[in-house]
Parts: sequence; C-alpha cells; structure tokens
Amino acid sequence: MNLLEFMSMETENVVARLKSSGLFQTKGLIGGKWIDAYDGKTVEVYNPANGEVIASVACMGDRETKDAISSAYDAFSHWSKLTAADRSSRLYKWYNLLIEHEEELGQLITLEQGKPLKEAIGEVVYGASYIEYFAEEAKRVYGDILPSPMPDRRLFVLKQPVGVVGAITPWNFPLAMITRKAGPALACGCTIVIKPSELTPLTALAVAELALQAGIPPGVLNVVMGDAPKIGKALLESPQVRKLTFTGSTAVGKKLMAGAAETVKKVSLELGGNAPCIVFDDADLEVALEGSLAAKLRNSGQTCICTNRLLVQEGIYDRFINAYSNAVQSLKVGNGFSEGVDQGPLINEAAVEKVESLVHDAISQGAKVVVGGKRHNLGLTFYEPTIISDVKNEMLIARREIFGPVTPVIRFKTEEEAIQIANDTDSGLAAYLFTNNIQRLWRVSEALEYGLVGVNNHVSFSQVAPFGGVKQSGLGREGSKYGLDEYLEIKCICMGNMG
Ligand code: ADP
Repeated sequence: MNLLEFMSMETENVVARLKSSGLFQTKGLIGGKWIDAYDGKTVEVYNPANGEVIASVACMGDRETKDAISSAYDAFSHWSKLTAADRSSRLYKWYNLLIEHEEELGQLITLEQGKPLKEAIGEVVYGASYIEYFAEEAKRVYGDILPSPMPDRRLFVLKQPVGVVGAITPWNFPLAMITRKAGPALACGCTIVIKPSELTPLTALAVAELALQAGIPPGVLNVVMGDAPKIGKALLESPQVRKLTFTGSTAVGKKLMAGAAETVKKVSLELGGNAPCIVFDDADLEVALEGSLAAKLRNSGQTCICTNRLLVQEGIYDRFINAYSNAVQSLKVGNGFSEGVDQGPLINEAAVEKVESLVHDAISQGAKVVVGGKRHNLGLTFYEPTIISDVKNEMLIARREIFGPVTPVIRFKTEEEAIQIANDTDSGLAAYLFTNNIQRLWRVSEALEYGLVGVNNHVSFSQVAPFGGVKQSGLGREGSKYGLDEYLEIKCICMGNMG
C-alpha cells in the first residue's frame, strides 16, 4: 500500500523532507543494517492529532532481538577498546547532526507523539545535550589508586564498561529518553540494543540513522521494536546483556526488575511519579503560578514529573486558584503543528479513557470541576485542560499517575499536613514547592521523599543534573556525573611483590 496516498498534506510534507535526509526509517537496525522483521510483520504508527497512519514499521520479536544482542556483543570488543577521545569525537558528531536536524526531528516527534512543535524541537535540543555532555564525560572516567594496608602491595581501581546494554524507552519523550541512555552507555564503551515504544518508533529510528552517519560503528547501537514482551524477554534472558535500563510504567518496571534477577543484571529504572506541587501562603503568587503551570502542563501532562496533586495552603487558596483557573482556561488546544498551540492530543484512546475514569471517580467521591472536565470538542484524543477542587489524597486521582491535562487540587492548613500528604504515596520522583520563607524552603525540601525537588521553579532538568526517583519511582540516576556510574563496573586490581 502506498501510504502517501492517504496522508494529509502536512504529513506528506514532513515525511518527504525526512526521506530526503534519510531520516524516515521504518526497519529495525541490527549490526548496522536496516532489517525487516524476519516474518515480514509490520505495525502501524499513527498521528494522534488526526488518527492517520504515518508509517508501517517492522514488528520484531525474539529472533531479531537475539541477533541484535549478538551484534552488540561482537561490537563491544572493538568499541570498548577505542580511546575515550575517539568515542567522544563520534558522539560529538552525533550531537552536531541531531542539532543540524532539530527541525525535522521536532516535526517527526510532533507527527507521531502529538506535542506542540515548539516543545518537540525543545525535546531535540534537550535530548541532544545528553550526547554532548557524555561526549565530554567520556574522557573523565577516572580510576583510583588506594593506600595499601601492606607495604609490598598496591591497590588500583579500574572503571570498565559493563557490556551490552538493553534500553527500553517510552513514547512521551521519543528522542530524549533514548539519548539519555545511549549517551552515557556509548561514552564509557558499552554497546546498546534499544527498544523504543511501538507508538513512537520513527524518532528512534531517525536518531539511530544519525548515529550511523556520525560514524558510530555497526552493531554499537541497534534498534528493535514490535512485540514488547518478547523483546523484553529476550533481553532479560540473555547472559550477554549485562545492564537493563528502562523508562516507563511502574508495573512493567517491576516485571523487568524481577526478570533481570535470573542473570543478575545491573538495572536502572525510571518509573511513574505522583508529583505534589505545594504552594504555601508565603509564596510569590506570580512565581508560583508560572512554575506550577509549567510543572503540570508540559507535554499535555504526559510526563512522569508532571504535577499530579496541587496542594494549596488556605491563606492563598482563593487568589491562587482564581489565577490558575484563568491561565488554564486560556490555553489553546489543537494539532501540535498549529501556531500558538499549548496543548496537543493525548497519545491514544486508552490514555483518554484513563483520564476520564479518574475524573469521574473523583467527582463521584465529592470533588468539583472548576475548569474543563471532559473530552475536548476537537474529538479524537483531545481532552480539555481541567482543574478539579476538593480532592482528597485517598481518591484514585491522587494515587494514580494521571498522565493528562488534569490538575487535582487539595487544600491544606499547615506545613506538617502538606508534607504528610505529599509523602503519602508509593512514588517519589519529582516534587515542587513554592515559598519565600528560607527556613521552610530547606525544611520542606529535606522532608520530601523525592529524588527531584523544584523550589520556586518547575525544575528545569538538564543533562548536568541527576534525574531519578526514590521509593517505587525507580533505581539509579540519569544524566550528570552520577549517570555514568550506571554503565560502569568497578574492578579492583591488587598487585603483590611490589616492595
Ligand atoms: P507507558 O504507559 O508509558 O506506555 P509502558 O511501561 O507500558 O509505559 O511502556 C514503556 C516501554 O516498555 C515501551 O517501550 C513498551 O513497549 C515497553 N514494554 C511494555 N511492556 C513490556 C514488557 N512486558 N516487556 C518489555 N517491555 C515492555
């Protein structure tokens, strides 16, 4: 079937542009070659803004994954022995290519994921920054010489790449979640098999094409997609895969963690959040408004660090909710390619159904709709920017990750109460607080059981900061100098007869 015949002009233009730079790939990448699924199966990729099919991509399973692992394993012996400077310069080339193509990649993200184009290009820049940062850090994997307890012995600590990495990534940041993993992995000499989300594989494949163009050798970076459980099982069962890094739902993360036990792999998990955003009476209203809106609305609320519960102290409550409601009401919802759009569609029908059911459940328990509260009249997977007040922390909407443009508001009286509510969850990824009281700022930051705390801002995460959660939000950190350790093993060499 010639898909182009059924595409809108907009999609056709984006696809044609990507094709001309070789960035419209629909096959998996194994050992440096673009490969169809062995049984020829394909899976369709949709544009969530209008439901049209953008492409059919290879639908792979365990056989392809095993071959990708073998390629990565073979490539490891060569890649890990290159000098750090050599690996670094190839990563720099990759970074430069990502930036050179930021507009096309942004368009591709908007096409298959739905976020507004400006946000999508922002993701490319953000994602590329991990490749640049780890191109620099590649040269700083230092070991140690330890004072020996015996005069004729010497103790050396070597840091070495862990080996083949399996990386499973989600659809909400189709580019950045890959570069955040591939950057540090490749920098320290690991090779990688990436399984992107089947909902957004095209960005992953374009990024992989640019890796090839940058001179990352065949087999160092492989991409397989299709049957997620089969691919996951093949990665877990392989003794050659020494590290599994995953971003996605807590439920799948737990399964992967259990599965990794059999071969005792190193595991990093970046799982779901339930972020509280606390606005105290003594906050600067403008700062709190801007920060809390940004913390909620990015990517239509579809990020694991998005505010899931807005806690507002009673003294500022009316003024703050009034201003917040006005801002939410003025948001422009629409196709991410349209000028001035703040909020795109949700990823699929299942996502809208989840949001709807959480909102209905809250209302049935006594919560009140302040703004929105239903599907948007644009239809498909568009949902109205929504605020719900009178929410209790026991309600499902305050316990599950909403992943949509809904702000549940909880009113509180005291600082102790706010901390208690904020920490009353199994999650611990991001939290936000707004206050101008310096003692409170420290007290609350220290008391919050979260891996990331945004104080008087919505946390501008970057490649230089460690990203990750506590409790059931995950294990390990991505980005920053700490992010490299996730891909390194420590070897201690003890030399005798040195006296
Ligand atoms: P989300 O709700 O964000 O889609 P998921 O955890 O379902 O979160 O998906 C994140 C990634 O995990 C995707 O690439 C998806 O295909 C993959 N995935 C889902 N189920 C499994 C599984 N059983 N084994 C391995 N990967 C899986």
